[in-house]
Order: sequence, then structure tokens, then C-alpha cells
Amino acid sequence: MPQVAPRRWNLTVFALALFFVTIGCREPVDDTRLDVLAADAIDWLVRHQEPDGFWSGAAFDLVCAEEHDEPCGGLAGSAVHDVGLTALAALALMASPTADSDLRGPLDQALEWLVAQQDSTGNLGLADVFNHTYDHAIATLALARAVRLLGRDDLRAPLVDAVRYLREMRTPRLGWRYADFSVEMRQHASDSSVTAWAVHALLAAQQAGIAIEQDVLAQGLRFLVNMTDDDDAQAVADAEEAIEKARAELTRLTKLHDDSASSAAAISAQRSLIQSLEDEAPRAKATGRTGYFERGGLVSRIDAASELFPWSKSEACTAAALSCRLGRVGDTEHLDEAHELMLARCLELLPDVGNPEAFDAYGWHYVSVAVAHPLVPRRDAVRWRDALATTLTELQRTDGCARGSFDPHRFAWGSAGGRVYQTAILALAAQAHRGRHLNPAP
Ligand SMILES: [Zn+2]
Repeated sequence: MPQVAPRRWNLTVFALALFFVTIGCREPVDDTRLDVLAADAIDWLVRHQEPDGFWSGAAFDLVCAEEHDEPCGGLAGSAVHDVGLTALAALALMASPTADSDLRGPLDQALEWLVAQQDSTGNLGLADVFNHTYDHAIATLALARAVRLLGRDDLRAPLVDAVRYLREMRTPRLGWRYADFSVEMRQHASDSSVTAWAVHALLAAQQAGIAIEQDVLAQGLRFLVNMTDDDDAQAVADAEEAIEKARAELTRLTKLHDDSASSAAAISAQRSLIQSLEDEAPRAKATGRTGYFERGGLVSRIDAASELFPWSKSEACTAAALSCRLGRVGDTEHLDEAHELMLARCLELLPDVGNPEAFDAYGWHYVSVAVAHPLVPRRDAVRWRDALATTLTELQRTDGCARGSFDPHRFAWGSAGGRVYQTAILALAAQAHRGRHLNPAP
């Protein structure tokens, strides 16, 4: 009997060793760097909140001037998107672990200001601004998260009105874009960027207990699927048809063969053509890319910024669509082929995360949201977050009043959004790993 105990002990040691070899030695997740830089970004946001509770894209420097020796400076953002900016900043604060304690005061002020902007149609944005759909969708998302994360049940009524307005803003193509009086609407009825914000808002509202018409949500998601080159069936069929035709031509040439040099050359050329068609066929496979308003197309860019920030260095629309499609935890047990393809497309950005041409905070935010989904392999999520933490640590300001913020001129959309936007969206990206944005399955 005395010998049994040591044997059991040995078995226990062996089992523990096996556990640590198989489980414990997996790549550690250290999000400390992201947590620290997110806290600094939020500190900057709180210091630059207006006394009335909102954040000003164009005039945030006025708050600096009152409280600090040197204003932050840099590019000013648009003056007509303070609703969207305030909603983004509120979302960043809500993603923090101290949302319900230290940050509760600034958050309640921001939410109160947002609700005060709502008109009788339910619209939270400025109705005469052509792209106020962005403001409205992001503000709807913020209200929905406030109901769920902060227990703000008093916001249910304005949220219901906001969801109704969002539904009414759908375009004939069943996605979302700009206000119907805008010229852009006549060129392209829907785009995947506004649609992604709208879908996230609806998913969050649904999770907050608001009844959402399922066809509205399903059609929004369908639009994002339609914009994604995630099915290679057509490309493969086209390649096969071309090869078949080339082979038929080879058969015809062979039958006509008369031993002349020209005939032999034609046959040889045709064989080369078939070979090249076969070689190229694999490259015709789906790219996994979501286009801005065409299937598999490129992202959107302000023309003036397209040279500094080339289209090809961003997968913002792919990541936005993927984050929506993975939006409901528990819908599936594993990533399907299309999602794997989209994820791979996003992760191809990794070598470029430190490349200034690829500084697209909007896209990085959505990649961060997508890789935080439990179905995404842990190793991929860790690789992404490590690369992001390294680059953001280098880019974050550490001096003066600007401490914690990000200089907008370094990023693709900085000239439109300014310092408040830049800092809020990166604070969201840095905190995506906490999963507070995820919409668990109803
Ligand atoms: Zn400042």
C-alpha cells in the first residue's frame, strides 16, 4: 500500500505535465500594451469632452486652451459630425472596464447630449448633412450598448425611435448609404461601410432586447455577402470553359495538320495556350475581399489621400463585413470557408501594419473586432494584436495636452475625422479584445 501513493503522485505529475505541454504552453496572450494605450487614449478623450457632454471634431482645441498651456493642434475634423464623434467616444469609454465606475459621469453626460439631438423622426444626426447616416447608425449603436452594458433602461424609448429611423433609411438595394437627396445615392445606392455600422447597430439593439424585423437585418447582411468575393464557383467555371474551348481548337488544328511548319507552329502555340490557361486557373479563385460598392472591389479613399494611403493597403470593407457576419456569437461552431477566406485576406495586412502607407485606423478597428470573435483561431488573434500594439505604441502621443491621442495626419481618414475621431476609433480597436462589443446570440 505505501507504494500506491507515490505512483498516484507520479501519475498526477505526469497528467499535469501533459496539461501544460498541450494547453499551458500555448502562446500567451498579453494585452497589457493595448490596455495601457487604451487607458491613455480614454484619458485624452475625457480631458477633451465639452462641458455639455459632446466631443467637437473641429473645436476640441478650445478645451485644451482653457486647461493646458499648449493646445493639441493638428488637423481639425469636420464640424458637422459631432454626433458620430460623440457616439464613437462614448463607445470607446463603454469598452473600458471602468465604464460603470470612473467613466460613468462622462458617459452619462455624453448619452444625455446624444439623446437631446434626436428629432421627431428618430434621427440622431444632422438631417441636412448628406452623410448623416454614419452619425445616426453609430449613435444608435452607442444607445444600444448603453442599454446593455450600463443598464440604461431609460434609453430604450429613444433607441426604438432610432432603430425605426435606421430601418426607414434603407436603400432600394437593401443596404445603407447616404441621405436620399445626395448625388452619391444616385451613383451607388448602398455601400458596405455605412451598411456595416447599421448592421452592428441592429445587432446591438436586438441584444438590448429591442424587437428587430429579421428581414431588415438579414437583408443588410445579404448586401455585405453580395459585396464579397467569397465564392469561386463562377471564376472556376469561367476558367474551365476557356480551357475546354482551347482544347477543342487544338483538336481541330490537329485534324487539319498537314506536316507544314506553320501548322506545327499553330499546334505548338495552342498547346502553350492551354498550358498557360491551366496555370492561371488557380489564380482565378475567390479573393475573399469585400468591396465598398462593388463585389470584391477596393475600399473607399478620399482622392487627395489615395497617394499617401493606397487602396491596396487596406481591407477595411472586408474586415467590416467579416465583423458583421461573425456578429452573433454562437451562430455557428466554426468559421465557414468564406469567413476563413475573409480572415486570411485581413491577416495579409500583418506585414504592413508598421508601414505608414497602410495606416488605416478605421480598417484596423474592424480587423480587431473580427479577430476578437471566439471562432477566430487564438493564434491569429494574438498575431494581430501584437502587431497592432507595437505600431500604436509608436504612434501614440506621449507629450503635453495631446498625451494619449493620435495625430490624425498619420492616418487615411484623419483629415476627415480629426484628432477626436482618430483617438476614439483606435481606443475602440485597442479594447476590442475584451469582447464587450460582441453581441451574444439571442
Ligand atoms: Zn488638448
